[in-house]
Amino acid sequence: MKMSTLFVTTLRENPADAEVISHQLLVRAGYIRKVASGIYTYMPLMWKVLKKIENIVREEMDAAEAQELLLPILQPEELWQESGRWDAYGKELMRLKDRHERTLALGPTHEEVITATAREEIKSYRQLPVNLYQIQSKFRDEIRPRFGLLRGREFIMKDAYSFDADEAGLDISYKKMADAYTKIFLRCGLETRMVQSDSGAIGGKVSHEYMVLTRTESGENDVLYCDSCDYAANSNRAESKLLPAATDGGFGEAKEIDTPDTKSIEDLSKFLDVPESTICKTLVYIVDDRPILAVIRGDLTVEEIKLKNAVGANDIRIASQEEVKELTSKFGFDAETGFIGPTGIKVQVIGDNSITELKNFVVGINKTDKHLVGANFGKEIDLPKIITDIKLAKPGEICPKCDGKLEITKGIEVGNIFQLGTKYSKKMNATFTDVNGKEIPFVMGCYGIGVSRTASAAVERYHDKDGIQWPMAIAPYHVVIVPVNVQDKLQMDIADELYQALKKDNIEVVLDDRDERAGVKFKDADLIGFPIRITVGKIIVEGLLEIKIRSTNEMNKIPKEEALNYIKEVIKKELG
Ligand code: ATP
Ligand code: MG
Repeated sequence: MKMSTLFVTTLRENPADAEVISHQLLVRAGYIRKVASGIYTYMPLMWKVLKKIENIVREEMDAAEAQELLLPILQPEELWQESGRWDAYGKELMRLKDRHERTLALGPTHEEVITATAREEIKSYRQLPVNLYQIQSKFRDEIRPRFGLLRGREFIMKDAYSFDADEAGLDISYKKMADAYTKIFLRCGLETRMVQSDSGAIGGKVSHEYMVLTRTESGENDVLYCDSCDYAANSNRAESKLLPAATDGGFGEAKEIDTPDTKSIEDLSKFLDVPESTICKTLVYIVDDRPILAVIRGDLTVEEIKLKNAVGANDIRIASQEEVKELTSKFGFDAETGFIGPTGIKVQVIGDNSITELKNFVVGINKTDKHLVGANFGKEIDLPKIITDIKLAKPGEICPKCDGKLEITKGIEVGNIFQLGTKYSKKMNATFTDVNGKEIPFVMGCYGIGVSRTASAAVERYHDKDGIQWPMAIAPYHVVIVPVNVQDKLQMDIADELYQALKKDNIEVVLDDRDERAGVKFKDADLIGFPIRITVGKIIVEGLLEIKIRSTNEMNKIPKEEALNYIKEVIKKELG
């Protein structure tokens, strides 16, 4: 491809609505153009990237014995009524009417259609297992489409659905997909971690997300991961072993003392001159409109999602000062925030695991400006009936699986796998005859990959101030050749010779034949992110080329006879 022909326009300015780097760079480098909110045209460069990702996905899915098909995008309301999701799905489901006033939806995902297909086609256990997948545009009327391709309304997804005769079969299908996913993302040049997830709207019991660790500030999720093993989890689910800390307050006897104005753990620790980790902290939360107490070691933080799950609530928030006063007065106290304790207030109390280590500690007793020091569970203070993990795991703490150190990064969910079980097949009456001649529902799994999100996640992960640094496997082209001066016959001849030679070797190459200043061409090459740049400049009279590796920005002068081999080696190495 000649640069003069390539259908691309690069821009100097970031678009006003682009908050994240992948959105900015993909627009500036001419990969995507916005048509409407959350709806983009994939320009030729972008389409090449997407097709490369799709092909990797396709190869690995086929290798895992899944079969590709293509389901319709428009789906009738009736199918969604059968599954019960017509009402449950919410406004993300784009509903519309045809000329006959029939109601349809644009597929946000395809469980209903595929279950109906299996219901028609699969009659016997002999036809199982089956795994069917497609790569297609999905539509979700997201409330806040943003971040370019990371959260669009129309986006490309690979979705696969497995059908098994029983749970054991599902386990095998699930494992096969988990392995395929790991390979797919690795081949795309992306480091991912598989993290356990909430199943959310799709349902089912076991599910995992694949997170790209961006190692930057971008990404919608905080992910804690171990520096030594493969442990990773969303920060609101992550567990950790604590670092050693003082847990004995060292007070000889229990006594009530004045602690004026010590509203925070920090104030209290300073006032008493004891470590924060010897204080027992009590917090009041409102869950589904009722108050509860959470008790945790003073230096630690409560993770609200864990607390919410521990009591099986839907909503959670910290109580206001007024609500705290009201609650204490209800039980005959008159205490403000900062002086609450777990004894005497008869509501549900949830203790974090960390409190069981505490001895001779400091604790609130529901009296403003007072605390009890030298307290112990089982003596002055009742140990809460529920003791579980409600703490926020923090970077620097110890991995729950090995003894490595936890680190934190932003993560982007690029894939999601679910064990659906019989959730859809039961509702939609999708059954087959088992070995004993009995009609039973399929045991299903579903497996998604955000193809367009994966492309933008790669940009989030691989870029510098000058532009994109595509991994070789998904770059739109491998090489750009930049003749510094297109008027110089020798430079152009060599550039052209190289161009032909690379093409002959099936290396995807762009020849920047534009009569532009070298600086302009270099800027575009960096912005677009070609993994290798060959510059044909003045030193060609000595038979030398300059070759730049975009991922490291390393530059080398290479004799022109060696260029082809050098490039092949780089490509081979980067493809792994
Ligand atoms: P999210 O939690 O990010 O909204 P999800 O969990 O609802 O995503 P799934 O139903 O698991 O998404 O869809 C499978 C994959 O499709 C996701 O892992 C993600 O990579 C991709 N995806 C989902 N929603 C979008 C979107 N709005 N834009 C781009 N990709 C998306
Ligand atoms: Mg998901």
